[in-house]
Amino acid sequence: MNDKYTVLKNTFGYDAFREGQETLVDSTLSGRDVLGIMPTGAGKSICFQLPALLFPGVTIVVSPLISLMKDQVAALNQLGVHAAYINSSLTEGQYRKAMELARRGQYKIIYVAPERLLTDAFQLLVKDVEISMVAVDEAHCISQWGQDFRPSYLKIVEFIEMLPRRPVIAAYTATATKQVKEDIVCILGLCQPTLVVTGYDRKNLYFAVKKPKDKKNMLLDFLKKNGEKSGIIYCNTRKTVEEVWQFLVEGGYPATRYHAGLSDTERKQSQDDFIYDIKQVMVATNAFGMGIDKSNVRYVIHYNMPKDIESYYQEAGRAGRDGEPAECLLYYAGQDVRVNEFLINTQSENSELSLEDQALIKERDLERLRKMTFYCFTNECLRDYILRYFGEYGGNYCGNCENCLTEFEDIDVTEEAFHIVRLVLTSYERYGINAVLDAVHGSDTAKVRQFGLKKNPEYGSLNGRTLVRLRQIINDLLVKGYLFLTANDYPVLKMTDAGRELISQWGQENGLHKIILKLPKEREAPAAPKEEKKKKAQAGSQYTDLFEQLRKYRYKLAQKDHVPPYIIFSDKTLREMSACLPLTEAEMLSVNGIGKVKYERYGAEFQRIIQAYARDKGIK
Ligand code: ADP
Ligand code: ZN
Repeated sequence: MNDKYTVLKNTFGYDAFREGQETLVDSTLSGRDVLGIMPTGAGKSICFQLPALLFPGVTIVVSPLISLMKDQVAALNQLGVHAAYINSSLTEGQYRKAMELARRGQYKIIYVAPERLLTDAFQLLVKDVEISMVAVDEAHCISQWGQDFRPSYLKIVEFIEMLPRRPVIAAYTATATKQVKEDIVCILGLCQPTLVVTGYDRKNLYFAVKKPKDKKNMLLDFLKKNGEKSGIIYCNTRKTVEEVWQFLVEGGYPATRYHAGLSDTERKQSQDDFIYDIKQVMVATNAFGMGIDKSNVRYVIHYNMPKDIESYYQEAGRAGRDGEPAECLLYYAGQDVRVNEFLINTQSENSELSLEDQALIKERDLERLRKMTFYCFTNECLRDYILRYFGEYGGNYCGNCENCLTEFEDIDVTEEAFHIVRLVLTSYERYGINAVLDAVHGSDTAKVRQFGLKKNPEYGSLNGRTLVRLRQIINDLLVKGYLFLTANDYPVLKMTDAGRELISQWGQENGLHKIILKLPKEREAPAAPKEEKKKKAQAGSQYTDLFEQLRKYRYKLAQKDHVPPYIIFSDKTLREMSACLPLTEAEMLSVNGIGKVKYERYGAEFQRIIQAYARDKGIK
């Protein structure tokens, strides 16, 4: 008899459900609708895939992106589950064949793009086969309040209404604020759904915001130390992707790139190179990553600030899906705010929406951008900031983010602020950040000479301060609205009312608000936490050389079978093998991530490698 635990162990290879999964599985199996809100990597897929295998009929999974479907179907096939996907990536022949097999009941799970649901062929299909469940992945796409509204998702509702018998409806998403949640329930017509919201917190992720003067150098420095690890670098335009990719390749790093400007073939090639561990570094726009379940991504760097916390957490969340320590770094520059504003304001008009709705969406997007910007300037726990954004309350100290590991001090920068703003005013608001900083700092640079800034009364007025400090102050002035940057290729600093007030009230007693900057104490960064993290990571795998052997073998297998290495076994599974040295079949099966099918397919050879290793080292 197959029950949920047998399927969990034998098919998926897991000993226990994670938080929330069992409730969702039980509810689904009992025929009740569900809404699961779980962060990326929490394990949503199993919640609908497992019941799908126990239901008598077929499960339709609606999913927005082709890459996502492909990956999930490949993973299911590896587990010995019959599944297929129907989307525009199939050739006419492949499509016909898939539909034919589907009609004959060959698949338990069929992934479908929403725009396919109402096609004639699909309508015919659902007349012939029994649909037990419709699972809606990325369910926030149905809501205009969400960060990724897709009108085609509304077809799901029509589709369900056309079915002869109403199936169980299971909706899943990683990011849902209150309004999105209500929309999902209401629009999808969920019937008294079981709601499960699991913690958004991903404890293994380390968060930090960097504000480098030179992003390129900072990135190269980072890669010098981490170049051999797998990681993603997100940029917000294609142009930046190309630039970053170029200098990484020139620097000798195994980097590949991904954005919508490349051909399908090129994109597929880059994605495969990354997933198959042929190239370790992926430089991409946000077009990359949905549904990429590469579990050994050790860092995600945002080379530009993304447009909202939803996107940020989703993209950053692609790091460390195996639960091992991983880093999420954001490189901030004032210009990122401008670029995002520009992107929001020029978003392609969505002809399916009324002008009013479009204006409303724009307004919400700008508000989200503001909250994203504040993330880059908060001195509080970064994890806490994100969790609060999603309506969760963490402790206010996580101990694994930059802010928690930094000591801050309050600094009165009113005087510096005055001189900077006055320079902007007296130079007729014509120059960008660098020129202004160089001028107040009293530097003798080409720009300063060219613009005649040496004659400005504020030239050199802050020559005792470091440029780093001055840059922090100018960022603070932008956030607090004493100055703003124009939105064009050469952003220029301009005055605001607050800035003018600062100048006019200067020197008046009691007339002036103090400008207080919370800044990290200027001292050596603590090296301890990183070291500790490293040690912790290593403690997990006693036999690192064995881990490397297993990894190499996995890579060979992956090449042979044309699947991504992590689909064979995750890093976590390999690490567990190299720590516990399982020598028998039973011991192998007790390792997390090894089920019956996987064992039969791949287990024996891994076991032999471990046995040989144990023999060589004389380990019993
Ligand atoms: P999500 O869709 O929520 O982002 P996935 O369903 O892709 O996450 O799962 C993330 C990772 O967690 C996958 O590698 C998956 O195999 C693993 N996983 C899911 N459930 C369990 C479980 N009960 N025990 C161990 N690993 C699990
Ligand atoms: Zn913290």
